[in-house]
Amino acid sequence: MRRWNGWGDDTITYPLSANALEFLHEAVGPGVPPRDVTLPAVLASLPPSRLRPASGFDLVRTDPLERLRHARGQSLPDWVALHGGRITAFPDGVAFPTNREEVARLLAYAAEVEGRVIPYGGGTSVVGHINPPAGERPVLTINMRRMNQLTRLDSISQLATFGAGVAGPEVEAQLRARGFTLGHYPQSFEFSTLGGWVATRSSGQQSLGYGRIENLFAGGVLVAPAGELRLPPFPASAAGPDLRHLILGSEGRLGILTEATVRVSPLPEHEEFHAIFFPDFGGGMAAVRRMVQGRLPLSLLRLSTPMETRTMLALAGHERLIGLLETLLGVRGLGPEKCMLLCGFTGDAAGVRDARHAALDIAKEHGGVHVGRRFGEQWMEGRFRTPYLRNTLWEYGYAIDTLETATTWEHVPRMLEQIEGALRAALPDNERIHAFTHLSHVYPQGASIYTTYLFRAAADPEQTLARWAALKGAASKAIVAAGGTISHQHGVGRDHAPYLVAEKGVLGLAALADVAARFDPDGMMNPGVLLRSSEGGES
Ligand SMILES: Cc1cc2nc3c(=O)[nH]c(=O)nc-3n(C[C@H](O)[C@H](O)[C@H](O)COP(=O)(O)OP(=O)(O)OC[C@H]3O[C@@H](n4cnc5c(N)ncnc54)[C@H](O)[C@@H]3O)c2cc1C
Repeated sequence: MRRWNGWGDDTITYPLSANALEFLHEAVGPGVPPRDVTLPAVLASLPPSRLRPASGFDLVRTDPLERLRHARGQSLPDWVALHGGRITAFPDGVAFPTNREEVARLLAYAAEVEGRVIPYGGGTSVVGHINPPAGERPVLTINMRRMNQLTRLDSISQLATFGAGVAGPEVEAQLRARGFTLGHYPQSFEFSTLGGWVATRSSGQQSLGYGRIENLFAGGVLVAPAGELRLPPFPASAAGPDLRHLILGSEGRLGILTEATVRVSPLPEHEEFHAIFFPDFGGGMAAVRRMVQGRLPLSLLRLSTPMETRTMLALAGHERLIGLLETLLGVRGLGPEKCMLLCGFTGDAAGVRDARHAALDIAKEHGGVHVGRRFGEQWMEGRFRTPYLRNTLWEYGYAIDTLETATTWEHVPRMLEQIEGALRAALPDNERIHAFTHLSHVYPQGASIYTTYLFRAAADPEQTLARWAALKGAASKAIVAAGGTISHQHGVGRDHAPYLVAEKGVLGLAALADVAARFDPDGMMNPGVLLRSSEGGES
């Protein structure tokens, strides 16, 4: 069963070795195991539902466990609230529609009871997308998980239509059985959904080969309070602005995406993941830039800084293997500044071979040492397990969060330094943080910068939250000041909303608020997310 206050399936754990714990101890100090509230205690604290029963249908559940399970997502403030039992608002009811008509009926019901509606995919948001707002109006969360079927596969055009609540593994299982793949693998793949990916402009780990969700999303149907919007899956169109881009990133503000048509690819004949180590980050970055600007047909390029490389090796387990690797790299002259690059090659056998040769040639020119497939394959096999580490760290008293941005190549090194610098200086009383970064998605013009920061949780949840707010605020301000986007892939939600005006401008935000008012005249869809009330986004 899925954990109610942590990540993932409660039968899966991610143990940490004694050496890994020592590494953390040295980095930030000893953690103090938290005193978490119990599930029965939280359930007993739920206020009664304010939703009155719907006449004519019983789609809405109001039992406390379901309401609790939909109260928070996966951001660090969500974790602190769940573990500390400080959840300020719960949905009053949760519905699980099975078709578009039921979604429309639920929206009509919500309007009738003057409620607010939160569209819900997998609940994996890390920026406060699905948290019920406080206030007088009852909140209905609409969980799309029962709309999870492949309803049409046009294999001639390579288009597949799904119910928008389909989760990552269900997408791939249904497509792979028919010889296709979507190739969209966010780290939250196990639980996040197609509708959530579209609504947050998600990026999968192999977006270099398959494209981000905006390249994959061809069309669909949005059910809004004001009516239905149908987006045909044209291969291309010059008929005015592309309305798909209103839906991409709409974060549940405009309506509910009930079905989505996506561009799929035939299953690749061959796939390989390799690791290459560079003497320093500058060399790694130069090699990566050449690979991507040379349009090499790769599906993944992921370059870690020296600190992230050290951290990954320390936390990976497999101590004997890592010892051998360190010796080998030492012999080749690579020291503590070494950086790991993961490369993915996907395609037919000949294409993979040619791309590998070309990439390795470039790497060599920048001092790269190719260590073969073992580390790459290990990363690939464990890539959806890494989030389980959050549970273990929490139990040892460590909080961990990530943040991300994107900028042009010219600004990548300075931006990276400024984000990490802001994080390291953010906490008072010499409380230490451990920050490390990788370039997670690369483009000919620039890269996304993905920083993880780890710090000690305090005995008092409010203090943990204050530490997080200081860290997140400092890093977000550094991103905005250096001209980066406030999000490359996690979206805006509530946590990034204050920073959005810096990149959209006042006129841009006003235009978005006008669009939201057109789709949702009574302001019932996910208020406070993406647009704040001061921007006309909340009624
Ligand atoms: C451990 C972890 C790793 C992650 N890794 C990545 C990553 O690699 N790449 C990445 O892009 N993101 C990542 N994320 C962030 C998150 O998984 C994505 O934002 C994801 O797209 C959210 O999908 P979801 O189905 O869980 O949506 P939810 O969290 O349920 O909802 C997110 C937003 O989408 C809206 N929404 C959901 N479904 C619909 C619908 N059918 N119609 C209209 N609106 C809808 C919601 O109202 C909400 O505003 C990660 C998160 C975690 C916790």
